[in-house]
Amino acid sequence: MTEKELICIVCPLGCKMTVKESSPEAGQYKVEGAQCARGKKYAVEEYTNPTRMVTSTVAVKNAPLPRVPVKTARPIPKGLVLRCMEELNRVELTAPVKIGDIVIENLLGTGVDVIATRDLG
Ligand code: SF4
Repeated sequence: MTEKELICIVCPLGCKMTVKESSPEAGQYKVEGAQCARGKKYAVEEYTNPTRMVTSTVAVKNAPLPRVPVKTARPIPKGLVLRCMEELNRVELTAPVKIGDIVIENLLGTGVDVIATRDLG
């Protein structure tokens, strides 16, 4: 039986938790150390399908600043974060950029867009 130790990041208490499969066939998991249901949910998600929001910047031509901040509209699988950064490094926008503009549509086939988080130009 595999298990994983992690610190809950859902609230500032930062409970130290252990999650393990109690019945893998049935997709059931046992979480120890969580003080609430939100922490248990986070632990199971982190164990079965860890995801991350990605925030970064991309290059912009003809703007007063060389780069504009961007983020994924929703979390993406943790294993795709490095490839996401590579994709962002290839992007060069042209000003003006508006907050909420889609910078990359359907990033790496995830169904998640990358959007600009400020106006520029
Ligand atoms: S398990 Fe609950 S109480 Fe503990 S850090 Fe997570 S959200 Fe906070």
